[in-house]
Amino acid sequence: MSDIYCYQAGKVYGAIFAGPRNKIGGVCAILVTNNSVVWSAKMFPSSRDALDEAQRRAGCKLSLDGYTTLSHTIIQNRLSIQWAKKAVVKIGKVYTIDAAKTSKEESMSRSHGSGKIAYVGFDLVAKRSAHTIEVIHEIVDKALKLCMSKWKWKASGIEIGFHTDIEAMGLAYAPGTGTKRQVRRVSLSVKLLESYDRKSIHRVVIHEFAHHRREEKWPRTRTSKSDGHDKLFCETLGAVDPLVNPKKQETCQFFSSVKDGSIVANIEKKLGKKAPVWSPTAGNIVMSLVGKRYRIAWVPRSRAARQWKPIVSKVYGATMIEFARRFAPGDWKKVKVVNQKCRFRGKPPRDLLGLLLYFIESGGSTARQLKEYLAAVKGTS
Ligand SMILES: [Zn+2]
Repeated sequence: MSDIYCYQAGKVYGAIFAGPRNKIGGVCAILVTNNSVVWSAKMFPSSRDALDEAQRRAGCKLSLDGYTTLSHTIIQNRLSIQWAKKAVVKIGKVYTIDAAKTSKEESMSRSHGSGKIAYVGFDLVAKRSAHTIEVIHEIVDKALKLCMSKWKWKASGIEIGFHTDIEAMGLAYAPGTGTKRQVRRVSLSVKLLESYDRKSIHRVVIHEFAHHRREEKWPRTRTSKSDGHDKLFCETLGAVDPLVNPKKQETCQFFSSVKDGSIVANIEKKLGKKAPVWSPTAGNIVMSLVGKRYRIAWVPRSRAARQWKPIVSKVYGATMIEFARRFAPGDWKKVKVVNQKCRFRGKPPRDLLGLLLYFIESGGSTARQLKEYLAAVKGTS
């Protein structure tokens, strides 16, 4: 979801973004607006229709050419867009939500320096988080203290948001603008909060702070999103994260923590989810292709015994390792892999061991992470 057009007309904030495909193969558009009391969202057959409506409400001409990216808008806008994406299912129907629900802000004092750290929209994700807002604050506060002292960084206006709509474990908003605007925004994924321990959260927080610091200290015009993790970034992060090797770029680029099993189990219990059975006879690994990306899923073998929802992830080194960890290495050959429309070079792998070897041979960062993992497993068994 990259094409998001945000605007402000008087007191009304609005955004237009792509919705599901329409009947004639185009894309629907969702218009979401906030008049500071409620957010409302409505789906239109095309972005042109959504723009017409936005102009009617704003009472002025808006242009779709000048769209800004979400990372430059306020966290509240992102939260409302997250909400609208889930809530809006029918063309023409108006959906509303109390604005206070998506933008509830809590400020907490810092243990060092002056000022506060603001948390925006935790209410929306509190149920899924394994950590309370107080614990998250403790982690952020400590991380900030560490970064400020190691980098000699003067950081004010820290704002933490939460996201559910983007794969990344953390996001840094408009890095580099902090010195001018005195606002530094970071967003944490709910996935991170629901399955990972304090240390993993700490590492994501310092990674996102490092994005801010990198762009503030050495200002530049960014040409592509991918150059965010350059040499200066790696050095910055390496100064606060001992697990990062500034000379190996992949160590400062990818999220490499592994889920905490007891946290996952607790949250599943809290949400009333039936825990999946990780045994070669209970389920199959299903590989599928969504767009251009592989997906890996753990699916109950028989419909009759369907007690748990399939676990679905995109294929990264870290997710492959998570799947491997669920089974004893001796069982990897017994775990069946079902192929759904994935194009594999050569014969599709038929079991977990074959799948791991396939991705090792494919090269890239996934291969590197898997190799390291396999070497570690060998070392201990
Ligand atoms: Zn990053």
